[in-house]
Amino acid sequence: MSATQDKELTDIVIGDLMIPSEKVAHVQLNNPLEHALLILVKSGYSAVPVLDSSYKLIGTIGKTSILNNVLGLERFEMEALSDIQVQEAMNTEIPCLQTTDSFLEGLKVVINYPFVCVADEEGYFDGLLTRRVILKQLKRDYYSFKTDTE
Ligand code: AMP
Repeated sequence: MSATQDKELTDIVIGDLMIPSEKVAHVQLNNPLEHALLILVKSGYSAVPVLDSSYKLIGTIGKTSILNNVLGLERFEMEALSDIQVQEAMNTEIPCLQTTDSFLEGLKVVINYPFVCVADEEGYFDGLLTRRVILKQLKRDYYSFKTDTE
């Protein structure tokens, strides 16, 4: 049974919906961009979290930012992928939720982001919440509301 099966939307917290850290693809600060691009292309994800060596959340890195970093005047300088580290190209201006935050907090964030990282109060990475999961939960709630009122 899923953690949200019998819960009202107002009782659902982010921890019920997130993908746990052990199932999340991530890269580390000092990885070369080549490694990050490989992870992104092989997984099909547009961006993944960046963690430090103690598994604290530092930022995210995506395909667009990697390609921007190797964009020369007339061509992509792909040979630079192995010289630039993830920490030079990552985005650190990211929203972050905690497992105890409400469904509504999650809904507000995923309006502007396809996914949001979840970390504890000390910054250790707990998992990731996707817009897809929020929308699926809203759809489920919509249909169960309709059935209840029919
Ligand atoms: P989805 O809604 O499943 O298409 O996921 C949206 C975005 O969230 C993906 O493009 C990735 O950037 C990120 N994402 C989703 N699941 C994972 C995962 N297991 N590991 C890393 N990133 C993920």
